[in-house]
Amino acid sequence: MFSWLKRFWEVRTQDPQSASAPVIIPRSEHPVSRNSISDNAAKVMYRLKDAGFAAYLVGGGVRDLLLGREPKDFDVATNATPEKVKELFRNCRLIGRRFRLAHVYFRGEIIEVATFRGHHGDGGNGEGETRNGMVVRDNVYGTLEEDAVRRDFTVNALYYNIKDYSIVDYTGGLDDLQNGVLRLIGDTRQRYREDPVRMLRAVRFAAKLGFRLESDTEAALIELGKLLADVPPARLFDEMLKMFLNGHAVATFEAMRHYNQFSILFPQTENSLAREEQGFPITFLLRAMANTDRRIAENKPVTPAFLFAAILWEPVRQLADELQAEGMSKLQSLQVAGDKMLDKQRRNISVPRRFTLQMREIWSMQERLPQRFGKRAYRTLNHPRFRAGYDFMLLRADSGEVDSELSDWWTRFQEVDELQREEMLAELGPAQRKSSRRRRPRKRPAARASSPS
Ligand code: ATP
Ligand code: MG
Repeated sequence: MFSWLKRFWEVRTQDPQSASAPVIIPRSEHPVSRNSISDNAAKVMYRLKDAGFAAYLVGGGVRDLLLGREPKDFDVATNATPEKVKELFRNCRLIGRRFRLAHVYFRGEIIEVATFRGHHGDGGNGEGETRNGMVVRDNVYGTLEEDAVRRDFTVNALYYNIKDYSIVDYTGGLDDLQNGVLRLIGDTRQRYREDPVRMLRAVRFAAKLGFRLESDTEAALIELGKLLADVPPARLFDEMLKMFLNGHAVATFEAMRHYNQFSILFPQTENSLAREEQGFPITFLLRAMANTDRRIAENKPVTPAFLFAAILWEPVRQLADELQAEGMSKLQSLQVAGDKMLDKQRRNISVPRRFTLQMREIWSMQERLPQRFGKRAYRTLNHPRFRAGYDFMLLRADSGEVDSELSDWWTRFQEVDELQREEMLAELGPAQRKSSRRRRPRKRPAARASSPS
């Protein structure tokens, strides 16, 4: 995979280092150049270095640059305490309580600066022994090596040293990067138990990088998957955004289903997929994910509301069908079913209110769009959520859930002038008064309709 690494390896085997010493790859032997690092991250590291501190680029920044990819963000690790970092940068804010991080603000970019974390970083009070703002001995902060082994995967624990532009590897990350392997550092089960979100990160990175999970990393992930149910719902929402809005939603979704993570996090959706024999709900979901990936590739905006509306659509739709069979109106049944599913989903993942409001509107829009008569079509067209609702309906039409006559009609209605719009409405005729939502007949609602309710 990497010719540069192979070359280095040949040099290195002639000069073996001791087991605990890190592998250090000099600048001349690796392809990461200063020019590929964001100016702001470089600025932060140089200022730390000039003040006498160690400063390294770490995490996804180094990993992605070594893979020839464009990093999403740049994280810096240092032996300067957060307070010292704050002194060095005017545009800096400290966040976090137990383990404090420094965020250095630039226009359009935040550089996260983390002080080396020690072995017991989760328990201490952050008041260890420091000298001139440099960590000496501490139960929260630690050495570079301690920082490395506390990270999640070996490929995420590579450091780029601003002092001599070398790459430092304590955990075998370079080998794993070379072989396309995602390997959790340390005792796999213990590390997942410590933080079950690492199981989601494993799936996310595997999908994004096209890496395979090392066998123990994979076995423990399957074994301990249920621990995800204990992660705070707000944190899970943040993780879901990283998983589905990173441009690899389809691969991530498929891996999540494969490892049973999807059923733990979205039990209602998983149930409704299992209940459905006809195949289009899964088609719809995959299309929604593919659509999200495409928009991100084209630098178009994506909203979490649209994606979550898509994920929960099938359970909402199934419940709405049942409510209709019991005599509730279509619009009301969608609203009631939507509320109910959002309520259940909240136990696993808490979607912020500003998004659930939009999700409800996108769903209601599915019932408004078929009602085109008279002023209704105009009201729908001017609705703030029209565009999202219409895009949502296009996906449903693409997966065979909605008659394409309806989606084509709306596509045209937006394009034509006022006069043609009037003609289009006139052409609908009285027969179109009914909803044109069409699905293949299903057994369940029919059976319900015949039972007394
Ligand atoms: P990307 O930014 O491309 O999503 P990343 O690897 O940079 O990937 P971040 O979430 O930005 O991921 O985290 C930065 C680094 O912090 C990681 O590479 C890893 O070394 C460390 N890290 C993040 N989350 C955890 C965790 N839950 N457990 C251990 N280490 C973590
Ligand atoms: Mg990152």
